[in-house]
Order: sequence, then structure tokens, then C-alpha cells
Amino acid sequence: MSSIKLKNCKFIITQDKGKILKNTSMFIEDGRVVELSERIGVEAEYTIDCRENICIPGLINTHTHAAMSIFRGYADDLPLKTWLNDKIWPMEKKLKEKDYYIGSLLSCIEMIKSGTTLFWDMYLNPMMCVKAAAEVGLKAIVSIGVFDFGDSAMRDHMIHFINSFLNDVKKYEPKIIGAIGPHAPYTCSNELLMKCKDIADKEGRLLQIHIAETMEEQSEFKEKYGKREVEYLDDIGFLSPNVVAVHCVWLSKNEIRLLGKNGVKISHCPISNMKLAVGGVLPLDECLKNNVIISLGTDSAASNNSLNMFDVMKFCALIHKHHSLDPSIAPAPLVFNFGTINGAAATNYVNSIGKIVENGPADIVILNTRNPNVFPLFEENIISHLVYADISPINISHVIIDGEIVLFNGVLTKVNEQKVYEEFEQTCLDLFTS
Ligand SMILES: [Zn+2]
Repeated sequence: MSSIKLKNCKFIITQDKGKILKNTSMFIEDGRVVELSERIGVEAEYTIDCRENICIPGLINTHTHAAMSIFRGYADDLPLKTWLNDKIWPMEKKLKEKDYYIGSLLSCIEMIKSGTTLFWDMYLNPMMCVKAAAEVGLKAIVSIGVFDFGDSAMRDHMIHFINSFLNDVKKYEPKIIGAIGPHAPYTCSNELLMKCKDIADKEGRLLQIHIAETMEEQSEFKEKYGKREVEYLDDIGFLSPNVVAVHCVWLSKNEIRLLGKNGVKISHCPISNMKLAVGGVLPLDECLKNNVIISLGTDSAASNNSLNMFDVMKFCALIHKHHSLDPSIAPAPLVFNFGTINGAAATNYVNSIGKIVENGPADIVILNTRNPNVFPLFEENIISHLVYADISPINISHVIIDGEIVLFNGVLTKVNEQKVYEEFEQTCLDLFTS
């Protein structure tokens, strides 16, 4: 594997106990940060002069449906139930394997260009997402999305899909890791949920599940099962530290206590929640009191409609301040932790740690400082800029994942972007006119 020297970095945001390094060089070899020091004598295969750059740990997006970039802008301004039942689910029936692939590939390009180095996906046809992530050089945890609506034949199919996917994905591990994504408690039977858990426990796999996204979902669930979603999942024994619960907007205090007790982590998707007008806000304070790890997700490009994690961090900080009438809630350093070290914690550190430290994985985003939105720049305000100043692809020069340069001067190194855009356009044309 190649070696890279990032010379004289203006700032390195390590996320290691809040340390920010100044005028420091970094030596990367075999996918790891080998040395961080003011002077590195060894020559590397690639040297990047970083005197006008800020290095940060790559952002970790813990909830995506990558292939859904195909539906960006297709069904805006609708409530979740109508959005799913009348728009998304009927269109998903028309998707072919190549559509999943090109949609995922476009999302992977978008994620790299906006500073994400690891994403956690949940969708159908997951091998197409795995293939796309591998092509662009992104780290990923890819969950096979499953549901059975209580139908036992469908359940058997899904269990078969899970087993064959987890076998197929092995050759991409540990850079891309297979996981299981039972869609939600209201779309999966008790039997399917427990089968997912059983496989996950036996194979040491992660689980991801949507929980309590809307008030309607919680009240319908309670009517049917006599208890709230998290209480039900606790009763059947589904909850454990390898579970990430997505959304968690409409949770009672008792449900949050149960998440904490069972070591369940949360993927908080504030932009998607606001766009679908789910009404509530993740009870952040209560989650923190119960030591529940909060990470961040974009959700899909159909409900966000961007995959830029800097946007998610900003909206996260804003929604909690606005909702609580308290500007001191969700301060920038805490929210930046959500997008980095907490993302890694949510994945149980399977292939990243969300920080820049010697001997740690080299997943690094290099920002240029010659753009108006990052002036004035001091050590004291960098984290504020990262969360509030609308960092976007124009601010991002290079991205290194697993010690490999996957974005150089704003251009993808492993795929021909223009070719992907042309193929994507054709795919959408075929899909929406058929
Ligand atoms: Zn989702």
C-alpha cells in the first residue's frame, strides 16, 4: 500500500480528547496514521502540502439508503405514510439490479465529495451498494433491508436473502461489512426480528432498525400490540449493544431508559425528520442522561435530499436549540462528536474510530481554508465553522480512506464521475418513462 505525507497541516482536528494540532505533519502508511509530528523526515510516495488546510476525521453517516438517490426530488412535500405507500414503495417494485447499483454509486460519490468516509446503509439488493462503495473506495456497513408484514413465506425468503448476503459480502470485509436491517417493528414480525437477532448474535453482526419515526406509527403500534415499540422490542429480547435504532423521535422516558439499559445506540436524522414533518424532536437531553450514544444520519436522498453530513450537523444543533428555547443546547463540539467519534461508537468500532491518532485508521478529510465561509479562522472557532458554516464540496480538497486518496483536488480518483452521471441520467430516464 502507498504512503502519504500531509505536510505542515495548518490544523489537525484529532477528536482525541479535543486536541487540535497546529503546523503538524502526518505520515500515513498501510492504511494507518503512523506518525503525527512537527517534522517528519521520511519521504512518502505522495506528499500533499497542507499549510492552508485543515485535516479532520472523516465523517460517519450512520443511516442511508444509498440507492434512493434515484428518487431525489421525486416525492417531496408529503407525509411519511403517503410518501411510502403511494410513491416510494410502488416505484421500488420497478427497480432492477442495475438501478440499485447506479443509485448507490452516485450516493457514494456525493458522500466522498462532502467528507464522509464511512456510511451505514440499509436497503434492498445490498450487494449493489457493496459493489458501489468498493469501487469508489468508501468504507461501509451495509445492512440488508428485510420485512415480512407477518407473512411466513416472505419471512423464509428474507432469511434466505440474509444468509446469502452475509456470505457474499465476506470477500469485501473488513472495509465493507455486512449487517442486518429489519425495517421497523411495524413491518417485521416477532419471528423475523428474533431470527435477525439470532443470526447477528451468532455471526457477530450489527443490526439497524427504524424506530418511532412518527407519532402515528407509535399510536398504531400500541393499539395493535398493547405497548410502545421499544417496550415491545425489550420484551421480546431484541435489544442489545449491537443494535442501532434510527430516528427515535417519539420515545417515552421509559423507552429511552430501556435503550440505555440495553446499550442500544441511536442514529439521529434531523433533516429527514423535519422534511417529513414527523412533528417531534429526538429527546436529546433524556438520551444523554441515559448514556445513549447519539450518532447522525442523512437518511435517503429522497427524504433529505442531500447526503452532506455537515448539513446534518448544522440542522441537529439548530433543531435542538430551537425546540428547547435554549441556544446552549447541542453546542458545536458535542454535535461534531456525534458526526465522528459517536458514529464510530455506533458501529462498535468495526472499521473506524472517528479520530486521528497514531496507529489509528487513516480516514481523513482535508479542507481548504481559501473560501469565504471559513474566515476568520482561529483554533477557537474551527469546530464552530465545521458545524455552522455550511461546509460543502467546495471546501473539501482531498479525502483519504483507509490510507488511500479517493478524492484529489475535488476529483474522484477511482471512478470516472462524468461517466457515472451519464449512466445515472439514462437509468432515471428509463425508470420514470417506463
Ligand atoms: Zn431510513
